[in-house]
Order: sequence, then structure tokens, then C-alpha cells
Amino acid sequence: MAKCGLLGCLVAVLASGSGAQTVIPSTVSAINSPTPLSQRVVHYEIDARYDAKAHTLDATEILTYHNFTGKPLDTFPFHLYLNAFQPASTYMQERERDSTSGQGRGQPFPGWNPNNYGASEIRSFEIVDQGDLTSQLQFTHPDDGNQDDRSVVQVRPPRPVPPDGEVQFKIRFHDQFPEVLDRTGWDRDFVLGAQWFPKVGVWWHGAWNCHQFHASTEFFADFGVYDVRLTVPQNEVVGASGVRVGVVRNPDGTQTVTYHGDDIHDFAWTASPHYRVHEDTFQSSLGPVRLILLMQPAHWGQLDRHLHVLKEAMDRYGRWYGPYPYKTLTLVDPEPGSQAYGMEYPTFVTGGTSWLIPEGIREEPEFTVEHEFGHQYWYGMVATNEFEDAWLDEGINSYNDVKVMDSIFGPATSWVDWFGATGGASERQRDFYIGVPDYDPLSRLGWQFRNDASYGAISYGKTASVLLTLESLIGEDTLRQAMRIYFLRYRFTHPGKEDFLKTVEEVSGKDLRWYFNQAVYGTEVLDYEVNKVSSIPVDWFKENLREQKGVTEYVSDVWIHRKENFIFPIEVEIRFDDGERVREHWDGQDRWVRFEYKKKARVVSAEIDPDHKIYLDRNHFNDSYTAEANPAPASKLVNYWMFVSQLFAQLLTWWLT
Ligand SMILES: [Zn+2]
Repeated sequence: MAKCGLLGCLVAVLASGSGAQTVIPSTVSAINSPTPLSQRVVHYEIDARYDAKAHTLDATEILTYHNFTGKPLDTFPFHLYLNAFQPASTYMQERERDSTSGQGRGQPFPGWNPNNYGASEIRSFEIVDQGDLTSQLQFTHPDDGNQDDRSVVQVRPPRPVPPDGEVQFKIRFHDQFPEVLDRTGWDRDFVLGAQWFPKVGVWWHGAWNCHQFHASTEFFADFGVYDVRLTVPQNEVVGASGVRVGVVRNPDGTQTVTYHGDDIHDFAWTASPHYRVHEDTFQSSLGPVRLILLMQPAHWGQLDRHLHVLKEAMDRYGRWYGPYPYKTLTLVDPEPGSQAYGMEYPTFVTGGTSWLIPEGIREEPEFTVEHEFGHQYWYGMVATNEFEDAWLDEGINSYNDVKVMDSIFGPATSWVDWFGATGGASERQRDFYIGVPDYDPLSRLGWQFRNDASYGAISYGKTASVLLTLESLIGEDTLRQAMRIYFLRYRFTHPGKEDFLKTVEEVSGKDLRWYFNQAVYGTEVLDYEVNKVSSIPVDWFKENLREQKGVTEYVSDVWIHRKENFIFPIEVEIRFDDGERVREHWDGQDRWVRFEYKKKARVVSAEIDPDHKIYLDRNHFNDSYTAEANPAPASKLVNYWMFVSQLFAQLLTWWLT
């Protein structure tokens, strides 16, 4: 008996049709875009049967690979990601190295049972017309030489595949899903089937790019077509990438659900008997997009929060950058407390919330849903190399979290708006960054960061702060235009970091190397302070001097100090007690500067970055000086920051990807 909610059951029954009748359109190309949006390098046809009790899966995969590289190919590497969840794997070793108190040996996350490893085993491997090559498969370890890591396997066809030729692989494989780890696996009777099939690497920049699975890195794959048949128990509610094109109810109590996806570069699916299903429609400029929400029953009351932020985010992305071209978007509310929350796959994302989260605390579900949808653009369509350039997907997405959330909820309250406590999404990103600002540059390869904390702070928070600060140099509108051109130019391809940076320079018409060298390629930290302020009467040496406002003449000096090594031009606003405000500009090249004034007024205050544009500044508390101490605003600020950091510490346990 299905435990899905009324609507979920209804949808499942309607979708399943009657008896064993299969609903598959005669031409699958009619389902999605008839015109290819991408260079379809791969075509995966997978027929998989999931054993919900053992959390295992047996499948056959036919992969047709089109050689568009212009060279003969005599080697093919494949990812076997689930082998990362083995004791001696590189992933597990990196998790161990990075473990903090509360995480014992072999326990990459608190509460995880070390017996519940995962694995992916190739049972047979054939190349059509070239024979069975199962015995010739070799594990390779391109990143760290770890002989025990089995997350990449390689095969050498007896005959190289010529340019413009194609090759077909027939692979039989067996998966053991782990208890959910890094967004794949099972938790009770829930499963997120991600990174679950042998996936060929990407020929990129003249070589194969097929990295091992690391603790902090994500994925990289070629665009293509997916036809996937999933056989699962009939009581399961299923969701997946692409478009559902058929359901067959089998006599043995299982159902076979078929999906088709065009111009996507990965395929994930989920099943649980508990999902309640809501379907809705978003009108994109290319036509209707079917929204499929798979909700936990306990979170049904938050359905509108999910839908609202999803539709509003789709609206912003469509207007600002370009249309969402796919026919579906599946949003999964995963098993509570599992490691399956907050993850992106093509046309399929997981959110994450808890039943007690009040409206106004927008970290979840709003922020998570918005962020994961954003990945449909920065990862899904602009398919950068997540192993090597994490900032191009996570960071550009984090910047857009701020833009989209601010647009929907207002800049001051886009993160928190709860009982008088307010916080903007930009502060969230900056907080993330300033905790670990200086170990690694944005440009570092994902698995070479000092640790997970630095990877997160830099790839997400720093990139967002770098791009927000960039607005002060070229303007918000220009950056949006650059982002739009970057999206339209590089969607359905695999751009690198310079493609993005050069687009920004081209659209802005400015040479920004001095900024990118520090902000992207360097680890320089930005911190300016008001070092000292003084106002001394010109006639200070006269006996019986009586200072009189508006009459006494003063020499005033304001010292500004560049405390760290990030050189950035700043503005300083100096206010005098006659109401005058003076704006000074400093290029920041030297370590300090002094501004001097001679006038019949004292300095009341000095403030660096008076328009609050420099999000990269590590310490805002030293940015201003006020002659007449007024403790009230300061203490309010301190309270706010305490609130924010405590909240943030809690919420960061729900790690976003
Ligand atoms: Zn992300």
C-alpha cells in the first residue's frame, strides 16, 4: 500500500495508466526540443532495476559516444563515483583528514553507519564490434595516485575511434548505494540515485578530463540524450531528470518508469513511498515548464513557500539571462536529516527544510530552492568544470543568490526577517567568506583546497563578495549584462575561468586584470581602517584659547590605513561639525594616506566606503570613526552580528552545494 499522500497517489495512479500498457510517444524527439541545443556527444540508454530492500541496483547501459574531438580516440575513462564510498578511497581519506570532533573514524558525517558503504561494479563491458573488454578494464588515479581508489576506470578499444566516428559501449553494472553520503544513497526507504552509472569523461582542452571523486568536488560531463528505464516497487513515488514518457505496472509488483532527457549532462532520480506530489506550471518565454514537487508529508504546509520562491527565481533568471529551455523541473524535498538536501542535477534539484522553520528565516526552504534552481543555469546549461573551477558554478550562483533573493524579498531582509532581526543575502555570503578568507584562491583546483571549510568559504562566499564588489567598479547593470552575454554565449558548452573574466572585461570595456589577479588568482585580503582622526585648533599654542563653534579654526587630519595586502581604490567621507561632507578618493597603493583640512569646523566622523559597496572588506568595524561616541548603534550592530553568526553556525550544518 502506497504511503504517498492523496494527491501523490492520484498522480501516480493517473500516470501509471491501466494494466501493463506503456505510454511512450512514437518519437521521443517530439517530447523535448526537436532542435539540438547542445552538441550531443553522448547518448545513454539505461535499463535499471532497483532493489529497495537491499539498496542495490542492476542495470545495463548502452552508451553511444560521438567523437567530435577531431582526433582518433584510443582511450576512454569512466567515472564510477559510487566507489568513492569505500574505506580506502580518496574521498573517504579526504573526509577523514578533514574530520572534526564528533566524527569518528570511518564516519564521514555524524550519525553515519560505517557499515553502509557504497560501490559500483562493472560486471561486463563490451564495445560493439570490438568485443568483450571486461578483463581489460583498469582503474586509474589521475589526481593523487591512490591505488586503492576505484572511482575512475579506463578502457582501451582495440581499434581507435576515428574523428567524427562513433562508438557504442554495452555495460552491465551493479550498484550498492551507500547510506546517503554527499547527496547520493538511501535513508530508510528513501533513495536519491545520483552518480550511479558508469559515466564517460569529458574531452576538454585537448585531453580527457575525468577526475577521481573527492570530498569537496562535484562533477563534469558531456551533454547528450538520456533514455532511462527505472524499475522500482509499485509503492514508490518516482522523480527524475528529464521528461517522464511512460509507466508500466509489472505483474511482479514493480513498475517501470521511463524518462527521456535532451541536452542534459547527467541523470538523477529519486524514489520514496512517502512523497506527496504537487504539479504546477511555469510559463517561460519558450512555453510552459512543468513543475513537479515531491514533498515530505510533514512539510506539505511549506508547499507555497517552495513554489513561490521557485517561480520567482525562474522569472528572474528568464528575464535577466535567458530562457529556461527544458520542459520540466523536478524539485525534491528529501528525507529530513539525510545528506540528500540541497543538490543540483539537470532539470532535477533537491531542496531541504525542516517542519519548524519559521517564515522569515529564509535559509530554508527559500534560499536552498533558489540556489539549487540557479544551478540549472550555472552548471546545468553553462556546464563548467566543477572539479577544477568550483567558483564558476557555486560562486556565480552564490552571487546570483543575492541578486535574486534581494529582488524577491528586498535587500535588507532577503535572508532573515524574523521578529525584528533582519539580514540580507549579501551579508550571508560575506559572513561565509570572512571566516576563512586567505588560504586558497578562487582559481584553485577543487580537491587542493586546504580543507572543506576553505573550499566553501572561497568558492561560494568569496566569489559572491568578489562579484558584488566588482559592481562598484563597473556597475550592477553592466555586470548583469556581462552575465547575460556569458550565459547566452556559453550555454550548452564547457567554458573556463578566462571565458568568464574576459566576457566581463569585454562588456565593461575595462581592463580588470589588477582586480582579478588579486580577487580570483590571489589570496590577498582586503581591509582598510580609519587609523586616526584629529582636529587641533590652529592657535593651539595661545594661552586661554576658547574654542567656539564656527569661529575657531582647526587643522584636521584623517589617517586611513590599508591593513592587508589587497589594493583597492576607496572613497572616504569626512563629516564636519558645520554639516559639510567631503568625499575623498584614494587609490590604496601606499599603506596609508592622510587627508588634511584647515577650516572652522572639527571632524565629526570619517567613514571608508560610505556607500557600502566593498563587500570584500574583511572588517567593517574599523571602517568608520565617530567623534561623539554613541554606543547605541554599535551595540545594536554587535547584537545583530552575534545573532547572525549563531544562526549561521547552525544553518551551515545544512551544507549547501
Ligand atoms: Zn550550489
